[in-house]
Amino acid sequence: MSLADDLYRETILDHYHNPRNHGIIDNPSAKVEGVNPLCGDELTLYLTVENGTVVDVKLEAKGCSINTASGSMMTEAVVGKSVDEATDIINKFKSMMLDKNQSELDLPEEMEDLEALQGVKKYPVRIKCALLPWNTLIEGLESVGQQK
Ligand code: ZN
Repeated sequence: MSLADDLYRETILDHYHNPRNHGIIDNPSAKVEGVNPLCGDELTLYLTVENGTVVDVKLEAKGCSINTASGSMMTEAVVGKSVDEATDIINKFKSMMLDKNQSELDLPEEMEDLEALQGVKKYPVRIKCALLPWNTLIEGLESVGQQK
């Protein structure tokens, strides 16, 4: 195992053991549930959007290490961003995970931890684990958009 793999694994385990923004939000702008039946991952995402900015995201997750770590990293990447910026980050992450040819990505600084999840691409079944929080967030952002 290479040094990079070790660092990646450490980053993922750190987010798994200490998930950021874990919990619930009272009176969120949107509450969305996501399920990945292939692995048994389940999560509830709470989202607060004010004046076009993602003010807060919290996750209650009962999933595997990849699912939990990915969700934790996602909340760090999108909280404080405008809805447009957050959508851009989501799209970048999804293309990183789904494009097999893409080895290096020009990620903004707040997304550097997310590079650790690239190792998951070697295990196609686990890609769904990594993407579940992101797809759930897209649903949340869309439902907030429709309320306007
Ligand atoms: Zn999983």
